[in-house]
Amino acid sequence: MTDVLTPVLSKNWGDDRAWTLQAYEDQGGYQALTKALSMAPDDLVTLVKDSGLRGRGGAGFPTGMKWSFIPQDDSAAGNKPKYLVVNADESEPGTCKDIPLMMASPHTLVEGVIIAAHAIRAKRAFIYVRGEVLHVVRRLQAAVREAYAAGHLGSNIHGTGVDVDLMVHAGAGAYICGEETALLDSLEGRRGQPRLRPPFPAVEGLYACPTVINNVESIASVPSIVTGGIDWFGSMGTEKSKGYTLYSLSGHVKRPGQYEAPLGITLRELLELGGGMREGAELKFWTPGGSSTPILTAEHLDVPLDYEGVGAAGSMLGTKALQCFDQTTSVVRCVLRWTEFYKHESCGKCTPCREGTYWLVQVLQRLDQGQGQPGDIELLLDLCDNILGRAFCALGDGATSPITSAIQYFRDEFEAGMHTPSSELFPPVASTLF
Ligand code: NAD
Repeated sequence: MTDVLTPVLSKNWGDDRAWTLQAYEDQGGYQALTKALSMAPDDLVTLVKDSGLRGRGGAGFPTGMKWSFIPQDDSAAGNKPKYLVVNADESEPGTCKDIPLMMASPHTLVEGVIIAAHAIRAKRAFIYVRGEVLHVVRRLQAAVREAYAAGHLGSNIHGTGVDVDLMVHAGAGAYICGEETALLDSLEGRRGQPRLRPPFPAVEGLYACPTVINNVESIASVPSIVTGGIDWFGSMGTEKSKGYTLYSLSGHVKRPGQYEAPLGITLRELLELGGGMREGAELKFWTPGGSSTPILTAEHLDVPLDYEGVGAAGSMLGTKALQCFDQTTSVVRCVLRWTEFYKHESCGKCTPCREGTYWLVQVLQRLDQGQGQPGDIELLLDLCDNILGRAFCALGDGATSPITSAIQYFRDEFEAGMHTPSSELFPPVASTLF
């Protein structure tokens, strides 16, 4: 496994006015588009399929396979309009890779959108951006305007007969709208709530038409695959998790930030890149991919950060948001904060998630305050058991992950919550995050 950074998406982030069309084109930007427009759509789908690119939004679903689900035959579904939607509603706690990408290099995403739309024969594409990040919305809108002015977007792009229109849409700031079907409801002008799947969006998505929904980083990776080729892409990463990716390192580390490196690197290697834990800080627990993934401990420093390695360790790779917590952090309080987030963001559509997250917060609050009751740990596990697999979407499952894994590794801290408040066990110190 290599220990070097592999900057592709982030290679120009530090350049002067990197977000402008001029700066992007000076670095070879939009050359992938020229090549892609000369290719048949099906060949582009095959290229992305063969590259092994997996969705970077958390689930790791193969991107090219998702594109290939879009019906292109003469059936009723095949004759409907097709849509491409970019999920830019990044909200998973600790996850902060798509926003810097869109701020520093919006044209990488715009170029990826045009190529992907051509591949699936979509004439309309949308970027759905999280509502709170107005600066990102403005930056993307400016990039889209520049791309139209340069003839990269619109009708008959560069005389090739390909038409792609792109619209940037701002959400209203709800975590649930990152769930792909809730995002579609929101984009259609309704309250964002998840839809039952199947049918998956590839068959029935926006306006009940075949729709590909991909994460920002997935789409932004496409131009590099078109120019670099599948051998180059596959030379990074592991056999089943190919390529480079953006890792968001945060918490009690010396140099938090975005690190672009191959899939399959370990947290130990990433920490070396990030200068290690802060002075006096020892790694106590960490998340591989935001708070919806089961936490891991210092025992797991050498687990490969790919879909297989993290899976074998009993967690999920998720969004690659590595939040590292030291010995001054109360696990109970940390888990309480995450659970409060899920309770607040639960859309209320299904009972297990709406009621379950409410009760989880009640029990965790009393354990945090040292007022836990006998049987509270079993009650937490029972509540999680009744949410997991029974909620309408992944939000409910995600809410249970930090709780069950925290009890697995730090049961003693939950037991201490029967008599001692977290604030006494872990008094606040200057470097404490919680
Ligand atoms: P999923 O595994 O159900 O689906 C992943 C993708 O594959 C979806 O686009 C889905 O439509 C597609 N898909 C799956 N099976 C399919 C099939 N049979 N036919 C056609 N398409 C199919 O995962 P999910 O519920 O969409 O997302 C959960 C993930 O979201 C978690 O792993 C979590 O890490 C991540 N997440 C990310 C953020 C963020 O801010 N980036 C926030 C919350 C959660």
